[in-house]
Amino acid sequence: MGTYNRFQIALKKGKGCFVWDNDGRKYMDFTSGIAVTSLGHSNDDINKVISEQINNLIHVSNLFYIEQQAVLARHLVENSFADRVFFCNSGTEAMEAAIKLARKWGHENEKKYKIISTHGSFHGRSYGALSATGNQKHQLGFAPLLEGFLFVPYGEIEAIRELASDNDVCAVMVEPVQGENGVILPPENYLENLRELCDEFNMLLILDEIQVGLGRTGKLFAYQHNGIEPDIMALAKSIASGIPCGALLAKDQIAESFTPGSHGSTFGGNPLAMSCAIKVFETVNDKDFLANVTKLGNYFFENLRNLTSDYTGIVKEIRAKGLILGIEYNESEIAKKVTEYLIKNGLLTILTAGKVTRILPPLNVTRDEIDQSLAIFNKSFKEAMS
Ligand code: PLP
Repeated sequence: MGTYNRFQIALKKGKGCFVWDNDGRKYMDFTSGIAVTSLGHSNDDINKVISEQINNLIHVSNLFYIEQQAVLARHLVENSFADRVFFCNSGTEAMEAAIKLARKWGHENEKKYKIISTHGSFHGRSYGALSATGNQKHQLGFAPLLEGFLFVPYGEIEAIRELASDNDVCAVMVEPVQGENGVILPPENYLENLRELCDEFNMLLILDEIQVGLGRTGKLFAYQHNGIEPDIMALAKSIASGIPCGALLAKDQIAESFTPGSHGSTFGGNPLAMSCAIKVFETVNDKDFLANVTKLGNYFFENLRNLTSDYTGIVKEIRAKGLILGIEYNESEIAKKVTEYLIKNGLLTILTAGKVTRILPPLNVTRDEIDQSLAIFNKSFKEAMS
């Protein structure tokens, strides 16, 4: 069905941060399948895990214990705020699980059911996640949506306090960085203030780390920059480096609202996805690996900023947190033009929120590859301006 506006490119092969199309043309892929292939294409370690796993067991039902789920869940809880994990297959499914868990907890606690979300947010395409998404572009034509979602500007605390005082809100849901909305970073102390407010009004703090979790920002989880802990967190995208997988993490006293039969998934947490996710986790959860993401992110950001100081006629702002970067242009027309020139010059990026180039290289990108991309940015800005 015609659900995508596609580039006129069919990709056939990939290695690291490079992909080749059907005609053999080579591109740098700084989309990473939209923040999915964070260890690069055709990663040798992941390939080895996949081939070993498919020779043993691809799928069994959650009616049985799946050892790899236990291993991954232990990794996740030992390195986060959480005590329990539910596995699914995608971001939108993780958000559905988050909404269901928050509401179940809410019903058991003062019968609260409303959820506050933010303008410009993106949480997925299924009805719950879509209802929680603060962007009418995605919701248009799909009414009636799920009832009980309230929206406030991203970064504003007082608007939440006002809504919370009605005492019918069970959760506040935010992205630590709004990726789809154009790499929007929260104002200072936003998450810290949100945490305090949630405690004050007995609301759950749900973080959607589907795009920025698992190393993308230079910490294992983005909330770890802020010294706070959420109550519920959703992961997906890069968690199994390309094999569909999602996860919902929660603290014990919230997770216990889910009992046998409350929720489930046929495919969620199958041995193939889990074994890949264990490998991704063990690779990313490494001090040196994460420090390198920060170092390269800073390097990329500084160099992009220097470069674009020559192009203030078209570039408005550069934003970044680790290896998620955004270049905002003055106009959407120029953004489109730059995107086309980038492709022509062999660099794939994502045009998001109308006038932002979103850059998501694999987390193991090298400085030399970043330099190659900077040369392509320079050439493409020049061409777009001429
Ligand atoms: N939440 C965030 C922050 C996302 O960026 C996305 C996808 O872009 C989703 C949820 C939905 O994930 P999926 O496309 O895997 O359903």
